[in-house]
Amino acid sequence: MPHVIERAATGRAICRACNSKIAAGLLRFGERLPNPYGEDGGEMTRWYHLSCAAFTRPESFLETLPLATEEIPDRELLEREAQLGAAHHRLPRVNGVERAASARAACRQCREPIAKGAWRISLMYYEDGRFTPSGFVHVKCAQPYFETTEIMPRLRHFRAELSEADVEEIAKELN
Ligand SMILES: [Zn+2]
Ligand SMILES: [Zn+2]
Repeated sequence: MPHVIERAATGRAICRACNSKIAAGLLRFGERLPNPYGEDGGEMTRWYHLSCAAFTRPESFLETLPLATEEIPDRELLEREAQLGAAHHRLPRVNGVERAASARAACRQCREPIAKGAWRISLMYYEDGRFTPSGFVHVKCAQPYFETTEIMPRLRHFRAELSEADVEEIAKELN
């Protein structure tokens, strides 16, 4: 079966990218994957909020968008973010931004330790239908790591509680 965009009939499905529930009545994205535990040809569906899918599963989201039968809110925005993610293959790894709680982690780009209190971007790695936390990069290392600095929409998406002052600080470090 192809991937699907449909309205959630219940609020039970958990979004694979942000781990929160997808409310009943919302449009959601279902990615079909082979079920390794199923019989021959068995498939399973992994559910996502539409925006979470655009950010983290860009290729399958773009493939499915033309098949959607319902009006999609913010369609152009989502399509643009998904295209960015398809063009820069590390971009879908962005999982948020935070101040480093300790100086124990090294940046995946420059290999230097990330100072306690410094802004860092958290990464997750997708494999076989699962996301695994996979370390951090300095905000200032975003350009060499992602090959673009157009990451603010996804930082804000995955870290909704950022203040305007935070956003300003992060934007300065990005450039
Ligand atoms: Zn989500
Ligand atoms: Zn770095």
